[in-house]
Amino acid sequence: MASFTLHGIPVSRGISIGRAHLLTPAALDVKHYLVPEEQVEAEVKRLQDAIAEVHRNLQELWTELPKEAPTELGAFIDVHVLILSDPMISEAPLDIIRSRHYNAEWALVTQIDELSAQFDEIEDEYLRERKQDIQQVAERVLKVLMGTALSAPPVPEEDHFQPQMIVVAHDISPADMLAFRDRSFVGFVTDVGGQNSHTAIVARSLDIPAAVGMSQASRLIEQDDWVIVDGDAGVVICNPSALVMEQYRARQANLMKARKRLLKLKKTPAVTKDGTPITLLANIELPDDCGPALEAGAVGVGLFRSEFLFMGRGAQGLKVPGEDEQFEQYRKAVLAMKGRPVTIRTLDVGADKPLDQTEHTALNPALGLRAIRYCLAEPQLFLTQLRAILRASAFGKVRILIPMLAHAFEIDQTLGMIEQAKAQLREQNIKYDAAVEVGAMIEIPAAALALPMFVKRLDFLSIGTNDLIQYTLAIDRVDYEVAHLYNPLHPAVLNLIAMTIEAGHKAGIDVAVCGEMAGDVKLTRLLLGMGLREFSMHPAQLLAVKQEILSSDLARLVPRTRRILRAMEPAAIAEAVEQLQSV
Ligand code: PEP
Ligand code: MG
Repeated sequence: MASFTLHGIPVSRGISIGRAHLLTPAALDVKHYLVPEEQVEAEVKRLQDAIAEVHRNLQELWTELPKEAPTELGAFIDVHVLILSDPMISEAPLDIIRSRHYNAEWALVTQIDELSAQFDEIEDEYLRERKQDIQQVAERVLKVLMGTALSAPPVPEEDHFQPQMIVVAHDISPADMLAFRDRSFVGFVTDVGGQNSHTAIVARSLDIPAAVGMSQASRLIEQDDWVIVDGDAGVVICNPSALVMEQYRARQANLMKARKRLLKLKKTPAVTKDGTPITLLANIELPDDCGPALEAGAVGVGLFRSEFLFMGRGAQGLKVPGEDEQFEQYRKAVLAMKGRPVTIRTLDVGADKPLDQTEHTALNPALGLRAIRYCLAEPQLFLTQLRAILRASAFGKVRILIPMLAHAFEIDQTLGMIEQAKAQLREQNIKYDAAVEVGAMIEIPAAALALPMFVKRLDFLSIGTNDLIQYTLAIDRVDYEVAHLYNPLHPAVLNLIAMTIEAGHKAGIDVAVCGEMAGDVKLTRLLLGMGLREFSMHPAQLLAVKQEILSSDLARLVPRTRRILRAMEPAAIAEAVEQLQSV
């Protein structure tokens, strides 16, 4: 097998080595999980039963056809029966379950996808259009399968699936990525995506090596190929030679050792060399992430991306979570953090985090009805969330964080709605923390340039550098074609961040960075030099950032950082930031 290397964008650190596991877009629309060896035959039977049931349904349809029904209708049912009986549908997916351990739905769509690709190549238009019949038959079977699906896919034990698998797909949505958290995948490779797309962010939070923007990966890499993902360099090596494999295994072992060493810092307070305490907080997607956050020594949650409770439910036929369901989740996080603060960001949907994959998307979603704009346009949904968050505030320290604010009236309306939610709870005699703090994400340049408007009205600020960079440099953070323009060190970006930190400090309110810059060890000293005292990041990054803090001396960093902020030449800035590592 020929070995080849692909270059893309590194998004989640580390090295993983495994077999390629190709995911087609259709496969992502259905549940996809791996069935343990002992359940394989039961899964095969589930698919056989579903096919048999569709057979029976089609036959019933035939016999119930009214006499006056057009003859094409009967012929149409005949075609579907024929397709269903063809071994390509009735047997090939069973082989996929047996050989690859896919669940029944996934095996079926994988086979249909392969057949569809073959049909696309047929010249004869009539025959080519039969592809639709095949898809309709598959949909009938999928519908029956949905009724017999397990409520929770089994979590395979690791040793069932050696060697471990690396997902290769054209694209993966953030919600789908989150669904991978309990599976035995060890790496991700996608054709598209940017460094700070939410898919990349979730990969990082899962602490699994990933590379995106690989352009042709899902076409060039084949199922079961050996693949190395170098998540530090953004490189994917397919079918590596034995020598290369050995080198990467050695690097992987060294990385593991370095990680183990970091664990010793878990209980060490995050204090600079000159004695300044720094607050290290965790970014979480779901309450279960609080475990890893505490494990890494986080002193609170700086960003709970609550939208992940809302996403990816459409495919399972679920609606948005109601007040009680949300309350349970927020309370779970609050209780898990045992008195440490939990900053819950209100629903930030839109752009690359649609509520429902199938929903209509705006022409320019990143500039559209996203985050607080969406919530203010859907007041009932927003009030429901605010009540749920406030109810959780009775169980520990909760702070409310509002995304994507730009206008004073948005802040005022939001604060008004928080008061309204409180009043509703009071009427019902439900407890909440009356002093709950409300903060703003600073992630639109307009906000960073109008800070007095924010500090006057709010209790704290949190800089969302991912969006601040996207909106300052006018590049879509999801689009790999402009990924090379995504530069945290652009002087405009650095100055907006510095201004925000300074304005917060002058007003006597806390300022955090909760964008990906906070977890990048190469930028820790720069942010410290700018005056940042609160960093919020994925738990997996926390100890490495702490290590940087412990060896940093603010007295040396501050004057150098001032010079960096005055510089306008990208090369000089990059060099000066690198030099901060050695002061
Ligand atoms: C940000 O924009 O930096 C941020 C933290 O929010 P998100 O990445 O969820 O948009
Ligand atoms: Mg953001």
